Amino acid sequence: MNDATNDLERILFHEDEINSRLDELAECISSQYDKRKLTVVSIMNGSLMLTSDLLVRLKIAFDLRCLNVESYYGETKSIGEVYINVKRMPNLSGSHVLVIDDIFDTGRTLESVIEKINFECNPVSVSSLTLLKKKKARKVNLIPDFVGFEVDDLFLVGYGLDYKGRYRNLPMIGELKREIITNPSS
Ligand code: 5GP
Ligand code: MG
Repeated sequence: MNDATNDLERILFHEDEINSRLDELAECISSQYDKRKLTVVSIMNGSLMLTSDLLVRLKIAFDLRCLNVESYYGETKSIGEVYINVKRMPNLSGSHVLVIDDIFDTGRTLESVIEKINFECNPVSVSSLTLLKKKKARKVNLIPDFVGFEVDDLFLVGYGLDYKGRYRNLPMIGELKREIITNPSS
């Protein structure tokens, strides 16, 4: 087992639970976008594992774009600013867009990305999918169209989610021990 699992307080979702939920989500997406031109926009880096594991399950054709977005800067609370690091957004005219992110917390990341796609890319429609969604009160007027699991307001790592660049390669999702977090009040 990966040594980094010792840094977890508890495991919320094991690999097999994640995989069976991805089977269900892929089924929904494959039927919803059947015979439509689909472009998946994946928010990097957090949704790297999710994107690849979800996309291999799709039974339909699609195009893939990745956007480099930063919203956390290594601490465990959102600073409320979202940086979309792209020189030029793609032209998505004629495409139904599905934006994929690892986790929906305040919702600002997804909101900013969807706004930018709507304003700059001319899509037919934009929907969104997150593997995790925190149950706490949202800061934005948006909820993802597809959600893997609802979770309590904890700081989670694994399966793409990092703390200061670590833990992304854990195959499960878990709560990070509080003593690992250097400055819990930030
Ligand atoms: P939002 O903009 O919805 O507040 O935050 C979304 C982004 O913040 C996610 O893409 C993810 O990168 C990061 N994030 C939110 N909650 C967590 C969490 O519990 N753990 C980790 N590692 N990142 C999180
Ligand atoms: Mg992210």
